[in-house]
Amino acid sequence: MKKVTIAKGDGIGPEIMEAVLKIIKSSKVPIEFEEIEIGEKVYLSGNTSGISDASWQTIRNNKVLLKAPITTPQGGGYKSLNVTMRKALGLYANIRPCVSLHPFVATNFPNLDIVIVRENEEDLYAGIEHQQTDEVVQCLKLISRPGCEKIIRYAFEYAQNYGRKKVTCFSKDNIMKQTDGLFHQVFREIAMEYPNIESNHMIIDIGTAYLADHPEKFDVIVTSNLYGDIISDVAAQIAGSVGLAGSVNIGNECSMFEAIHGSAPDIAGQNSANPSGLLQAAIAMLLHLGFAKEATMIQNAWLKTLEDGIHTADIYNEELSKQLVGTSEFGEAVIANFGKIPSVLKPAASPKNSIITLPEYKRKEASQKELLGVDLFVHWNGTDANILAEKLNPLVDNELSLVMISNRGVKVWPNGFSETFCTDHWRCRFQSEKPIEKNRIIQLLGKAIDSGIDVIKTENLYQFNGKKAYSMGQGQ
Ligand code: NAD
Repeated sequence: MKKVTIAKGDGIGPEIMEAVLKIIKSSKVPIEFEEIEIGEKVYLSGNTSGISDASWQTIRNNKVLLKAPITTPQGGGYKSLNVTMRKALGLYANIRPCVSLHPFVATNFPNLDIVIVRENEEDLYAGIEHQQTDEVVQCLKLISRPGCEKIIRYAFEYAQNYGRKKVTCFSKDNIMKQTDGLFHQVFREIAMEYPNIESNHMIIDIGTAYLADHPEKFDVIVTSNLYGDIISDVAAQIAGSVGLAGSVNIGNECSMFEAIHGSAPDIAGQNSANPSGLLQAAIAMLLHLGFAKEATMIQNAWLKTLEDGIHTADIYNEELSKQLVGTSEFGEAVIANFGKIPSVLKPAASPKNSIITLPEYKRKEASQKELLGVDLFVHWNGTDANILAEKLNPLVDNELSLVMISNRGVKVWPNGFSETFCTDHWRCRFQSEKPIEKNRIIQLLGKAIDSGIDVIKTENLYQFNGKKAYSMGQGQ
């Protein structure tokens, strides 16, 4: 008997969870459920994280969580429990399959069958934000080699395990050469280890446009956290409805299974929500737990129910549907179809392995890291970069020279354009021809403070194995 934690959530959560649990229990799969309370009630009781310590312990003990959507109260400093859970439990991979159910569910893309593999722990979702000047706030985009290796390898392993043919990487490395550049570089390296799987890379903007127009050209897509969040909603919506897609969050120890949609307060308590998204997540959970027989039976019964035209309001269509049903009736119809196989839609297939296990991350040999200078970020209310350069003159010596001032990334000194709009946030780059000692930075900082310069932060300029590892100013 396996034990699974369940959270019924808010809004439509309890209704869809009830329907899904009834289906799972009717399949006689040997699972025991332990319920926890998370979400709105917990938030409003004064716990800004939305979850109690005891509930965390239950999740960590049972390792597998089936979670209905929750409502995050607006304002008041409530942290998103979904993001916290993914990160605290090390759920590094977020897998979102989207498939067309044509001709039974209306879609413009009858051949759509995509799996989005989204990085789940880092990128801009690290949530490291600071206000630095009156006019400028900053969000730190962190991309790590282990983060890239894990998610990209997972995407290729997933493709292999589920018999998929191609993995496409989306990034924006033409602009973000360090962060997205690393993601793309690691993709190139890992793709070479899987010669039987086709691989390609697309810049995220044109890739998303192409995805929205020709989704049938894609198979598995791997991308970083923010891009993955956006494109998986696009893919689910064009497949038919956000109410149909499930999401799997995988870590080394724990895993969490949920629908991709939210708590839909507009239709809560009406027995009209589609339980399919949570059911898809539950079926993935059964596969993860090794119950392939039950997972396949439920998936086929679900496909047959959709083929029979038994539809909830979100996908009901006068031409395609036969019967409009509520949440619980839809669940009953799935149970009544146990043992049946769809005749038009592709029947469920089990993966080769129930769990994808990645090799342990091996840290590469450390590079030779040398300090070449520093970017001083300065809060200054002036508008003419030549005046700021003069103010910085006393800081310069025969080792460290001022080579550039930029504003929001664009070079404004030397030889800036009068057309460039400047805020009160200036990056002043001091660089040396040869590697320098770290205490040179402290001396420079001390001199800047003594000269009344409002330094808000510094960023060291390094070269790794002789290769400069920082971006140039735009126009530098
Ligand atoms: P939503 O996904 O709840 O609803 C968007 C629209 O889709 C609504 O019109 C809703 O009625 C419809 N819809 C969603 N799921 C459906 C289903 N199963 N069947 C039929 N129709 C469905 O998004 P929202 O309105 O932006 O968010 C509502 C709340 O959900 C917010 O508090 C948000 O923070 C939360 N949320 C939670 C999660 C989660 O727990 N994983 C995810 C997203 C949003």
